Parts: sequence; structure tokens; C-alpha cells
Amino acid sequence: MPNLNPQQRLAVRHIDGPLLVLAGAGSGKTRVITHKIVYLIEQCHLSARSIVAVTFTNKAAREMKSRIGQLLTKGESRGLVVSTFHALGLNILRREHEILRLKAGFSLLDAQDSRALICDLHQQEFSSGGEESSFQWQISTWKNALVTPEEALCRASNDQEAIAAQLYAAYDRRLRAYNAVDFDDLIGLPVHLLTTRPEILSRWQNYFRYLLVDEYQDTNAAQYQLVKYLAGVRGAVTVVGDDDQSVYAWRGAQPENLHQLKEDFPQLTVIKLEQNYRSTTRILRVANQLISSNPHVFEKRLWSALGEGDSIRVLTCRDEHHEADRVVAELMYHRFKYRTACRDYAILYRGNYQSRPFERALRAHGIPYVLSGGTSFFERGEVKDIMAYLRLLANEDDDNAFLRVANTPRRGIGAVTLEKLAGYAALRGQSLLVSGFELGLGEHLSGEALPRLRRFCEWVVDLADRGRRGDPIAVIKDLIADIDYRAWLDENCNDRRTAERRMANVEELVGWLERLYQRGDERRALGDLVAEISLQDILERTQEKKDRDAVNLLTLHAAKGLEFPYVFMVGMEEELLPHRTSVEQGTLEEERRLAYVGITRAQRSLCFTMAEKRQQYGETILCEPSRFLSELPAADLQWEREGIPRDPAERMERGQVHLANLREMLRQ
Ligand code: ATP
Ligand code: MG
Repeated sequence: MPNLNPQQRLAVRHIDGPLLVLAGAGSGKTRVITHKIVYLIEQCHLSARSIVAVTFTNKAAREMKSRIGQLLTKGESRGLVVSTFHALGLNILRREHEILRLKAGFSLLDAQDSRALICDLHQQEFSSGGEESSFQWQISTWKNALVTPEEALCRASNDQEAIAAQLYAAYDRRLRAYNAVDFDDLIGLPVHLLTTRPEILSRWQNYFRYLLVDEYQDTNAAQYQLVKYLAGVRGAVTVVGDDDQSVYAWRGAQPENLHQLKEDFPQLTVIKLEQNYRSTTRILRVANQLISSNPHVFEKRLWSALGEGDSIRVLTCRDEHHEADRVVAELMYHRFKYRTACRDYAILYRGNYQSRPFERALRAHGIPYVLSGGTSFFERGEVKDIMAYLRLLANEDDDNAFLRVANTPRRGIGAVTLEKLAGYAALRGQSLLVSGFELGLGEHLSGEALPRLRRFCEWVVDLADRGRRGDPIAVIKDLIADIDYRAWLDENCNDRRTAERRMANVEELVGWLERLYQRGDERRALGDLVAEISLQDILERTQEKKDRDAVNLLTLHAAKGLEFPYVFMVGMEEELLPHRTSVEQGTLEEERRLAYVGITRAQRSLCFTMAEKRQQYGETILCEPSRFLSELPAADLQWEREGIPRDPAERMERGQVHLANLREMLRQ
């Protein structure tokens, strides 16, 4: 095991009993996981299939898989599961769905769909007021804490909570009627199965011989139960984490799980890592100093042997546009000077919307960039349309999908027809699609509407049938041709270019599905592809181009676990970081951890920026520097205000050279 220090080696070799690696950022926790997987396969002769590694994001899972692939000889890693908790849950549900009375091809609802459903139910069944989004949040919180609707109702302490609990019950009933699950069910339902069905528990415990969990500090109660059950009495589990990087309290994450682990597994071994291999001493000092303002349960030390490194600059800018221009100018100058690649740079910010000025500035200079955690590819209307068709093909009970596609493109199935159909279906407790075959003229449908509805239903069933038996990709292509989606876009877009762009998104979706189909080693039906892509969609929400040399634009949350040679942390202002609501709600410590996560992504250089004023909610506000800047050691920060030096050489040094000239220089 080269390239591991003695502590890391100890962690890799420890396989008798559960292990917790508790250590600061960049100390090689993720590296322990990748090397341990290799060790389990090569030295302990576990088959790759029997190992499951859980990471927090799809991106992290992919990175880990590719690193492991490089360490192993070809073929050895086949069947290895590196996934997120949700993908693991989906995997379990797909195999056990019958016990939960879910039919194969069940649909997965994203947050938007589930909010629409909650909104519907709320209007139908409760006339009282209340925000749908707060009900959605409440239901999700209950699910993440493994609280059933009945328990929620018992515990309700006021009217609002009682309504939420009733809504929760109605929502779950409706989900089951649609043969659908939501995002939180991907963890909750498997945990329910493992708790209540010993034979299923032992099947999965035997199937997975070893479990590894990265970013353990961000697991919630339901996810923790999943870990606990899968690890079983053998305690065949390694978890790694850093309580200082816990940044998902709003999603129900419980850093206390670190303690819980010790109680549930008394034989737990704890290993600490202290050397940071990522960042310069200065970056580390700044990070350590910041996080020392938070209370600490676990004492950790962290040092680096990578040298002192450059001083950390703080650029104050006039406004958000100036901030973006300056960062891009700095970046171009730096690239020119050091001949670096675009992918070496990351621009990190607190909220998604902050990316826009940076996108504009980067685009203006033809610098490629990738956006993570931004507006979703899958939230676009055209992608949602095609996905709804595919969901309906995979799951004929998905009434949600049925309603979305019945008239997209228009096929003359009017609102009256749909209303009658829905009434008929509700009365008999069956799906819209099935009812479409039964509804007769006797139901007062006009002579024209009935054959149209019937034709549509027959067409769906026919395609669905082919999707189960034949080549799913051919079915998808036929579907898009059958509905003549391109013509529909032409009709409904303001101009030709928009229609083309939207069609290109549809083609990209098909390409994505095609790659997914070809990648698997087993033949997969349409339903499997739809389930997988729905999950990728929800988890990723990004249009990712792999291996492209591009500047990384990401939120601090999305940056967790990643590293970049040069990092810009932008918008270092009060009300942004720490975020205004966190100041109001007293969750400052979590914001500090978020800043800690950001700082510790940087390997060689770190630059903070802030604007003196900024447009927010339509008005211009004056900004103050983030309090976190004042918590950092002053000697390590170099504040740079705007003033432009006369001397061109100095201007060059400070990255204030005219952008057009710089572009010219880069081209040479
Ligand atoms: P984070 O808390 O941010 O998730 P981490 O603890 O998971 O960080 P890694 O990402 O595993 O840290 O490692 C940080 C960097 O240090 C990586 O580039 C990794 O390859 C490198 N590294 C880790 N251990 C060693 C080692 N023993 N020798 C050389 N490089 C190492
Ligand atoms: Mg890590």
C-alpha cells in the first residue's frame, strides 16, 4: 500500500469490526475508502459485487469509481456499487418492490412533482390556509426522521401540524395509487423493509459483505438506520467523516450520528488522521482559525507539509458585475502566467443565482465553464414532457404523467373528457390509462372524443409493451417521431432557434438514455432506464459534460469532497455568507462550517472577493464584509481595493491589465 501514511494504512487494514475515521478536510478520508475497497478485493478476496460504497453526490460517486478503476486491474471492479444513499435505496426497492406492493416500473417523483401533488391534495381535501412548501418541508422532515403518518398525527401539537399529518397520510396514499415513490421514500421504504422483515434483512446483509460511507457527518436519521442495518452484527462497516464539514442540517442530517455509532457499535474503533495533503500551510491555518470559533466535541489537529504558500487575497469590488469581471481577469492572467488548465479553477458561492454574472463574464471571453448544482436540465419543459411519456410507458398507473402528456402535443382530448375519465377512474380505484379502455359512450362522451382517447391509450400500451420486450432506445425514438415533437415545438416556440435548442435538449436526453443502456452489463428494459435516469436527474440537476477542460462554477454545498488548485470564494459578505436567514435563525455555526468547506477546497491559492453593493430582490443594497473574514488571521490576508496603478508592469502583476490585450496574449 504505497502512498498511504501509517494511520491511513491502519484504517485500510482494519476489517474486524466497525471503524470510524474522524478527521479534518483533505486528510485523505476519501482516499482511505478507495484504497480500502481495493484492499478488500485484492487482499481479502471479497468480490466487488459484495462491496457497497456510499458517497454524497453522484459526482463524488463517479470520481471514486474512476479512481478505483485505475487502482485495480481490468474487470476486478465489475459489479462494485459506488453510489449515493438514494441510488442504493432505489437498488433495494427495485428488487423488493413486490413486498411493498409496488409494481415494477414504479415512478419516482421529484420535488416539483411532489409539491404539485401536495398542493392538489391540499386544495381538494382541506380548505384551510397554509403554505404548500412548508407542508412539503414538514412531510419530508417526518420521512427523514422515519415518522409515519399515524405517528405524526399522534404527535401533532397544533392545528397546522394536524393538517400536515393528515396531508402526509393522503399524500402517501396517492403516491401508492400512482405506483410511485418520492425522493425520501428511497431511504425510508428500504429501512422499513429491513426493520420489519428479517428474511429481507439477512438477504441484504449477506449480499453486501462490506459497507463504506464517505461524508458520514451528513447522514440523516433514515440513512443512519440503513447503515446500521446493512452493517449488521458483524459491523462490517467503515465510515469516514468530519463534524466540521456538516452542512446539511436543513435536510435532517445529524452530526450526532457520530455519537450514535459508538452506542450502537460498542466495539467501534476510531482512527484520526492529522496530515493534510491538499492545501498549503497558510490555507490550512486560515481554515483552522475560522473553525476554531465553533464549539468542538472532537479535538482534531491538522497540519500540512506543503509549505507556507502564497498570501490570501481579498478583492473588494464595486458591485457583482465588477466582481465577476475582476475574477475572470485574475483567472485569465493567472492562466497566462502559469499555463494552467481551465479545470484547475473553481469559483465558489453561497447561492445558485450568484453564478449568473460569472457565467456572463466567462462567456464574454470564450472561457468554457461547467455549472454544478445549477438550474436543471431536467426541469425544462421539453425534458419533462418526454420524461412523462417514458414514465407512463414504464408505469401505467402514473396518472400524473398521463395528465401531462394526454394533450402534449394536442390530440383533441379535451378537459371535459379528462374530467370524466378521472371521475370514472376515482370511482373504481384504477388508473386513468386502464379506465381509458373502459370508458364507453354511455359515459356521455361525445362521438369524437371517445375514439381519440381510445387511440391514445392503445398507442401507449403498445409502446409500453414493446419497451418491455424489445430495444427500449428504438421505442423512445419511435415515440418522439410518432408524436412529431419537433413540429409541436415549432408551433409553440416564439422563434425557430428556441425550438431548435429545445429539440437539442430532447436529443441530449435520448443520448443520455442510450449511453445508460449501453453501459449496463445486463439487458435492461425501458422501466429500468427510466428509474435510473429519474434518479440521476433528481440528484444531479446538471448538464454535465465529462472531461471537458472548463472552469468550475459551484455552490459551496456542491463543492464538498472536491479539490481545486485555485479557488475563488466570491460574495464574502454579510447576509450572503453567513446567509441572512441563518443569522436570523441562529444557525451561524453551520454557515461557518460551510465557509470552512469552501476554504479547504483550495490546494495552492485562495482568493476571496466581495462587492460593495449588489442588486438583490430588485433593489441595490450596500454590503458589509463577511464577519468570517474578520475571524481569519489578519496577517495572512492581503486586502486589495480597486485603485489602478499607473505602472503597466504593476498592473499586469495585479491582474488589472486590459482584458482584450490579455485575450490576445493568451491566443499567442
Ligand atoms: P475532504 O474532507 O475534503 O473530503 P478527505 O479527507 O476526503 O477530504 P482526500 O480527498 O481523500 O481527503 O485527500 C485529499 C488530497 O490528499 C487528495 O488529493 C489525495 O490524493 C491526497 N492524499 C491523501 N492521502 C495522501 C497520502 N498518504 N499521500 C499523498 N497524498 C495523499
Ligand atoms: Mg473526502
